[in-house]
Amino acid sequence: MADWLLPTPSSRRDFLRTLSLGAGTTLAGASALASPLEWLAPARKLGVALVGLGNYSAGQLAPALRQTKFCQLTGVVTGSPAKAAQWQQQYSIAAKNCYDYQTFDRLIDNPAIDIVYVVLPNALHAEYVVRAAQAGKHVICEKPMATSVADARHMLAAMEKAGKKFSVGYRLHFEPHNQEMMRLGQGLAYGKINHLAADNGFKFGSGGTPWRVNKKLSGGGPLMDMGVYCLQGCIYTKGQVPISITAKFIPNPDPVLFKEVEAGVNWQLHFADGTVADCRTSYAENMQGRLRADAATGWFELAPAFGYGGLAGQTSDNSGKLNLPNINQQAAQMDDFAQCILQNKPTRVPGEMGLRDVQLLEAIYRAAETGQSVSTKDVVQLIDRTSAE
Ligand code: NAD
Repeated sequence: MADWLLPTPSSRRDFLRTLSLGAGTTLAGASALASPLEWLAPARKLGVALVGLGNYSAGQLAPALRQTKFCQLTGVVTGSPAKAAQWQQQYSIAAKNCYDYQTFDRLIDNPAIDIVYVVLPNALHAEYVVRAAQAGKHVICEKPMATSVADARHMLAAMEKAGKKFSVGYRLHFEPHNQEMMRLGQGLAYGKINHLAADNGFKFGSGGTPWRVNKKLSGGGPLMDMGVYCLQGCIYTKGQVPISITAKFIPNPDPVLFKEVEAGVNWQLHFADGTVADCRTSYAENMQGRLRADAATGWFELAPAFGYGGLAGQTSDNSGKLNLPNINQQAAQMDDFAQCILQNKPTRVPGEMGLRDVQLLEAIYRAAETGQSVSTKDVVQLIDRTSAE
């Protein structure tokens, strides 16, 4: 690009306005672009296609995509023609941007869709992430990223081959209370953390779709669902990956419902400096969803820590550091990913973090099944330090 094409900083705003209006697009995307080359590009919101229009897509992601600045809902993938018609109308989605699981691969020819967001039952994540990669799309995959380490590696390889960005739907990395837990913990604001505690669970009868207790589709019970938050929370608060894990399944209160997956599990993450994290998850008990750190000179905790809203926190010294606003987490998460694409910068919740967690989930199951301590020496050593800055 020749220098003469670059406007002076003082004329930048007018230049962007001209560009944006000329292209019939919004200013919002352009204003976040970092380098001159990037902000010269015509601004437009990146197009997102949601794959799987279940509770999370309908209740959280689609509404959040009405609030995002750098991306918008432009497509859907669903096996239900009735849902496709309803979503077209509700979200003004063009018929040409609606796919089913057979026509999915035709996404390759659709420039209106930049990001494919996989929101399917856990065991289907791998297939659709790989197919999205082959269609040349950037991808967000819901948690847990996969139901096996082998699948997670396969997904990463496909995304790497495609040269596209890949992140996991870890919304709490973009949420102020959880970001403050990272800052307090990783920054040793209360000295060395000696103990962590996390719980997250619900009574399955009061929510939860049937695939969640079908091992082939879910990969496991509450650990693969609610337990992921406890694992994540302890790691990003401590700022370390544990070196070993011990675990125990809870007694099964309903062998019919929990025929294929665990009803609950309690586990401990053991860190190199002796810190232990006690974690609990269950489909047999409503839990608050708590994340607490006890450190050398005080404690800090979120209760509740992991929900979509209503998060609240306290510190031992009543510092008010955890009195923070609740935001639309999904909008923040998706906008961050869009900016990573627009500015070509790494996401703080990459596929490698998804792999790390699948490795740890497998280790927790192994520890519970064998009753032995399981070493995590082969686990990917990756921590989100960006959010803690
Ligand atoms: P859901 O059961 O409400 O929706 C799943 C969707 O997948 C449905 O629309 C269903 O029709 C479709 N589907 C396609 N093929 C299917 C098959 N073979 N069997 C069953 N369903 C099939 O589930 P959900 O709560 O939306 O969860 C979807 C994913 O999102 C899961 O991976 C879950 O862990 C994740 N999730 C993440 C969050 C979060 O806060 N990040 C919250 C909820 C769910």
